[in-house]
Amino acid sequence: MSSSPRRTAFHSSVHDIMHKPGQSRPFDFSAAAPADLGIRLIGIPEGAPVHVSGLLESVHEGILVSGEASALAIGECGRCLDRIEMNFEVEFQELFAYSVEEAFDFFVEDDSVDLEQIVRDAVVLALPFQPVCREDCPGLCPECGARLGDDPAHSHAAAIDPRWSALADLRVDTE
Ligand SMILES: [Zn+2]
Ligand SMILES: [Zn+2]
Repeated sequence: MSSSPRRTAFHSSVHDIMHKPGQSRPFDFSAAAPADLGIRLIGIPEGAPVHVSGLLESVHEGILVSGEASALAIGECGRCLDRIEMNFEVEFQELFAYSVEEAFDFFVEDDSVDLEQIVRDAVVLALPFQPVCREDCPGLCPECGARLGDDPAHSHAAAIDPRWSALADLRVDTE
């Protein structure tokens, strides 16, 4: 393991409030989205801005971080494959502990807290697993792939198996 922890664009110094329980300070920054910030059909493009803001609070065990992240997610409709753009916002709260001996998931390192992982976890949980361009998107025609939303009256004449066409003619004749 490296002695200096990996620092991402989402790190924030907490030096001024460390070991001063009761002290707090707001934070507010934008950072470029890391790779793979999303799920299968929708995500935040790598490099796009993610706005993160909230409050850093000094508590006995470490630094309690409460905040929200907002960004523009881009994806495609799970039914018709149209492009989707969605402004969304997620909230998070996590304790960054001083002591690596305790049962915490996140730690104050180099007098900083790094929010990338908690932002990632919150974003991935909040994104819709089946995004749709609109709630009632009718999707694609199963026969020809046309977007049914563009053409609500879209239909095909009932296909007739060529082996039965002679019979169909016969039926017409007898009517
Ligand atoms: Zn759609
Ligand atoms: Zn069709």
